[in-house]
Amino acid sequence: MDSSILSDLSPLAGKKIMVVGAGIAGLTFDVSLRRSWTEESGDFPEVLHYVAHR
Ligand SMILES: Cc1cc2nc3c(=O)[nH]c(=O)nc-3n(C[C@H](O)[C@H](O)[C@H](O)COP(=O)(O)OP(=O)(O)OC[C@H]3O[C@@H](n4cnc5c(N)ncnc54)[C@H](O)[C@@H]3O)c2cc1C
Repeated sequence: MDSSILSDLSPLAGKKIMVVGAGIAGLTFDVSLRRSWTEESGDFPEVLHYVAHR
């Protein structure tokens, strides 16, 4: 059995996440991810927000 299924390590650990937009929805995702992250989750992912300038 894959032991990672039973661990607290997040599948997002150490990854790079691209979020389109930095409004309510985009920032809520970022903040909620940070608040739910624990030491056991692994390395916090790099979160980048892409925002279009008008
Ligand atoms: C004047 C005003 C007052 C408001 N007051 C209230 C209030 O008092 N209370 C309340 O609950 N709601 C209020 N709202 C509504 C609230 O702002 C929206 O419901 C909320 O911001 C929607 O969140 P969202 O994440 O969907 O979009 P947004 O917060 O608008 O975020 C969208 C993001 O995507 C980016 N984006 C857009 N197009 C692209 C693209 N093509 N590529 C990359 N990035 C892109 C934008 O730059 C922005 O960062 C108000 C809205 C306005 C306009």
